[in-house]
Amino acid sequence: MLHRDGIDSLVLERQSRAHVLERIRAGVLEAGTVDLLRAIGLGERMDREGHPHDGSAIAWEGKPRFFIDTKKYTGKRMMAYGQTEITKDLYAARDAVGGPIIDEVSNVALHALTSSKPYVTYEKEGQSRRIDCDYVAGCDGYHGVSRASIPSDVLRTFERSYPFGWLGIMSETPPYPDLCYCYHSRGFALASMRNPMLSRYYIQCDLDARIEDWPDDRFWEELKARCPKDMADSIVVGPSIEKSIAPLRSVVAEPMRYGCLLLAGDAAHIVPPTGAKGLNLAVSDVFYLTRALTETLKSSRTHHLDRYSETALRRVWNAERMSWWLTMLIHQFPDEPPFERRLRENQFDYLHVSEHVQASLAEQYVGLPFEGY
Ligand SMILES: Cc1cc2nc3c(=O)[nH]c(=O)nc-3n(C[C@H](O)[C@H](O)[C@H](O)COP(=O)(O)OP(=O)(O)OC[C@H]3O[C@@H](n4cnc5c(N)ncnc54)[C@H](O)[C@@H]3O)c2cc1C
Repeated sequence: MLHRDGIDSLVLERQSRAHVLERIRAGVLEAGTVDLLRAIGLGERMDREGHPHDGSAIAWEGKPRFFIDTKKYTGKRMMAYGQTEITKDLYAARDAVGGPIIDEVSNVALHALTSSKPYVTYEKEGQSRRIDCDYVAGCDGYHGVSRASIPSDVLRTFERSYPFGWLGIMSETPPYPDLCYCYHSRGFALASMRNPMLSRYYIQCDLDARIEDWPDDRFWEELKARCPKDMADSIVVGPSIEKSIAPLRSVVAEPMRYGCLLLAGDAAHIVPPTGAKGLNLAVSDVFYLTRALTETLKSSRTHHLDRYSETALRRVWNAERMSWWLTMLIHQFPDEPPFERRLRENQFDYLHVSEHVQASLAEQYVGLPFEGY
């Protein structure tokens, strides 16, 4: 996006390209993410190979399953298209214009971030190197160096951990036709998809669960036990091609700008995957970040740069709240007081009967528009 706006940039990546292109991660794209990818010329393969969908089903143990129709309430569609595929498309676009990506770097450090001459140092093949720049986009994920470069008396971190994780598998089988969230006394389950021959399924697991204790047969059996019978009967099982366990947590670091450093994506915030927001938030941050840098570097106006953190954070907190709400609604909580369990069940009943609540969830699920886009 910076290249399209005539701004030079250089990407430093800790991993090899092969490693990045093997990582399996998110895959449900909000309408705004889909529109942006199309607008910047990255929509062709997504439109050919992705799987558009119009909402999600909720199956609550012992109650009728129903569908939250995002298309009906918002007029917009979402798209199942793997993050790994988007990354491939991004590499291809970058290669096509000769944009530099320096991979397998180590010891990246950010310097003089509040001066007019910031610079970045790193090591590659045993040699130390330095890049002088105008701005640093801190897009290096939760464990990167960018957020850690903001002094602790400036940075505020808001955090919530949940007492469970998600065990996920990917299999080359036809997916269950709807993205379906299942609430069950054995624990939450989710049927999701990447393309017509790639399924993604998750089950809630204990925080100390270990992958080696979950061979495929045990996973499929437990998944099916948490789904309504007709759904379980139609799930096509097969060998997993990926299996992982992730703890669930919510984290927001503020501010997202410190001098010449602008944080984006997981470097600034983590959402539990329940709302499928992590990748989409990274995309909206990048939209705001590009707008801010383009305006400043092309016109010397700093209107969007000055407001980068507060604008991005408004959307971040919305996604945090929605993801927290859905996580609280649909999981089993160990030692939950009976009163809270009843409130949760009633929340579901309210969602089931009220078109207003469904419309509100649909609006957030499909994604709020980017401000000023
Ligand atoms: C296993 C898994 C499953 C997920 N599933 C979902 C999902 O279903 N739905 C959803 O919405 N979200 C999901 N997420 C979250 C989503 O993938 C992230 O929110 C998204 O990747 C954020 O993008 P990002 O670019 O900010 O960070 P990342 O994708 O983490 O990219 C950061 C990059 O920076 C590099 N890096 C890190 N440190 C350094 C350094 N010091 N120097 C140089 N480079 C560095 C990393 O190698 C990485 O390539 C999942 C995440 C994981 C890990």
